[in-house]
Amino acid sequence: MTIRQIPGKVYLVGAGPGAPDLITLRAVEVLRHADVVFHDALVHPEVMAFASRAEKIAVGKRCGRHSTAQQFINKRLVDAARKYRTVVRLKGGDPLLFGRAQEEIAALQAAGIEYEVVPGVTAALAAGAELGVSLTQRGIARTVAFVTARTGAGEAQNNWAKSVAAADTAVIYMGAGQAAEIAATLIAEGVPHETPVVIVENASLPEARRFTMPLAELARAAEFGITGPAVIMLGRVVAGAQTSALEADGRRAAAA
Ligand code: SAH
Repeated sequence: MTIRQIPGKVYLVGAGPGAPDLITLRAVEVLRHADVVFHDALVHPEVMAFASRAEKIAVGKRCGRHSTAQQFINKRLVDAARKYRTVVRLKGGDPLLFGRAQEEIAALQAAGIEYEVVPGVTAALAAGAELGVSLTQRGIARTVAFVTARTGAGEAQNNWAKSVAAADTAVIYMGAGQAAEIAATLIAEGVPHETPVVIVENASLPEARRFTMPLAELARAAEFGITGPAVIMLGRVVAGAQTSALEADGRRAAAA
């Protein structure tokens, strides 16, 4: 890596879904050179350890918890680039998916600061891997939608439910806490009650859990005590995960 002058460069880096060895080699290289790292709340300590010489600043946002205002984060990135050569904004999964990266990029551009994006493994792909289920299984699924039901303050209502209804496979981010509302909205949109659904919590981590059910029972998610990050996946491809979960239950029942 070339030695940079001040103002430095800001790297928007994907940390991957959680497991520290699901980060890219490029991300590790950038972290090793970092002077300062602004990171999300859920980044694994082993990933943070790659940034051995950097000052580490948590600006993490977790649904419903205290978070640093986005404009303040934007300003801190700009200020840091004026002081340091290598500034990292480390985000969970892929930095450009559901992470407000565009606002950070706009602020950097407005300040004339160079930036680069290092992609990461997004939660939907980690969940597919966790289940051993192809999101684009041949003959069953040709379209995949990554959606969120959340709308930020001041944003227009989005068409997430229409996108879910239209896609063969859908992965809903930031939705486990509103499972009942999501289920009601999708059923009102015409998505069949029996559509296979799986909630994958902590995909890629040792504490990963999965819960399978038909859409009609998605409201039960409130009973599962989900505290980690979780995606809701819907579609026929999910039936594979459902069968294996049922088989596992069956084996347990048979063994008991
Ligand atoms: N940029 C991230 C998403 C940020 S939004 C990415 O590309 O993955 C945060 C949401 O991501 C969480 O609410 C959850 O829906 C999902 N998520 C992140 N990590 C996850 C994991 N290990 N398992 C399941 N879902 C996860």
